[in-house]
Amino acid sequence: MKENIETLNRRLAGKTADEVLAYFAQQYGGRIALASSFGAEDQVLTHLLQPHREHIGVFTIDTGRLPYETYDVMDRTNQKYGMNIDVYFPDPSDVEALYKAQGINGFYDSVENRRRCCHARKIAPLKRALRGVEVWITGLRREQSPTRESMRMVEHDEANGLLKLNPLIEWSEAEVWEHLHANGVPYNRLHDHGYPSIGCAPCTRAVVPGDDIRSGRWWWESPEHKECGLHRKE
Ligand code: SF4
Repeated sequence: MKENIETLNRRLAGKTADEVLAYFAQQYGGRIALASSFGAEDQVLTHLLQPHREHIGVFTIDTGRLPYETYDVMDRTNQKYGMNIDVYFPDPSDVEALYKAQGINGFYDSVENRRRCCHARKIAPLKRALRGVEVWITGLRREQSPTRESMRMVEHDEANGLLKLNPLIEWSEAEVWEHLHANGVPYNRLHDHGYPSIGCAPCTRAVVPGDDIRSGRWWWESPEHKECGLHRKE
């Protein structure tokens, strides 16, 4: 690790997301990638990193349970930017074992079952995606969830042994949408139907205006459990 976390956070304080991406593209080119789920924030980042495509990769995890609209925005994004975003799928044997252990929708039955499903369908493919990556970029924003209030621009991801970069950490939801509209960036159409945060189809539902923007994810669980394991600090 070239610089420690404190130094990096001090160096990047007050910088724009553009400047942060440019710095990391230069310092970590070829070893840095955006993990995109095609949510509004990830789309902002995909747009912002276009000048750095040679240095910064983009990948996604296809859990096998995504809504149609996510595949649609994936396709429109690839077309707009002339990209072929890398897709990582779960290991079929993991999904088969999951089905045998808890049925097709067993994630509704307990937090443990849900985490087991997220592990097989998201975390295991994520670990493959992150091989060779030293910095992974996320679209996390501090105001998104009670579990994200203590986030910083650069963090150490102990579970994966790398740096996690959150260039939009200080952005508001309004800023995200201004950026998308001003630049004609494709976005998931579910956002127009009350879905501020979009994951797998069976685990995401619409929220009413004013509700916590992540309250539609794993809505049957209490807020402190609402991370899929990708960004949990355990
Ligand atoms: S979000 Fe739901 S369907 Fe998707 S991996 Fe997690 S538990 Fe499984």
